[in-house]
Amino acid sequence: MLIFTGAGISTGSGIPDFRGPNGVWNRRQPVYFNDFMTSEAARIEHWDYKLEGWRAFRDARPNHVHHAIVRLERAGKLRGVITQNIDGLHTLAGTSTEKLVELHGTNALVECQTCGWRGAPERHFDSFRRTRKPPLCDCGGFLKPATISFGQNLDPNVLARAQEAALDADLVIALGSTLSVYPAASFPLLAAERGAPYIIINRGATEHDELGCVTLRLDGEVGAIFPSAVNAALSREA
Ligand SMILES: [Zn+2]
Repeated sequence: MLIFTGAGISTGSGIPDFRGPNGVWNRRQPVYFNDFMTSEAARIEHWDYKLEGWRAFRDARPNHVHHAIVRLERAGKLRGVITQNIDGLHTLAGTSTEKLVELHGTNALVECQTCGWRGAPERHFDSFRRTRKPPLCDCGGFLKPATISFGQNLDPNVLARAQEAALDADLVIALGSTLSVYPAASFPLLAAERGAPYIIINRGATEHDELGCVTLRLDGEVGAIFPSAVNAALSREA
């Protein structure tokens, strides 16, 4: 199966709410990728914004939903996980790298915009906090938390891996996403339109609710529905 995940699965994991009334996004203008690459002031602004969320991201822990997905992988049922989330919690829970597609990148790494080097963010946040200088790579390139910024293209290799998984899966389950951000939401649809049964679990409406290719639509907290369904399915199998 292909599992597609959005922000609704990280509820209860201590992830800051970016879109809510007190969300970071409502207090700050986003820094666009082009500005980051061309302006030192924009780089400082972006690192400042990321630093603000860093403590919460660093302390966040996977929940029952992330762990249930890992149980599916260990049972040999998982073709892949495609996530919109940047919290790194699938990896922390134990989903293997080759199964995981992080469409919008991850806060768990920083990435050089010149040579592509990726590494742990701690020392770069520490250095930025002390010096207020945006961190540089050994090659001289700009380091940026490895998330996709506004105005930045998604990585074509990442998109290709997502497409491969969607073309290969024979069941697709979307968890905790309003399915309103594209191209992300096109991947579960790609699997469903090939005839794979399509299950959507989300609290509140999604943009795919009215589509004929949706097999089962469950409304509610993903954490209250999905882990117990996985347990039931796997114990029946055993
Ligand atoms: Zn570099």
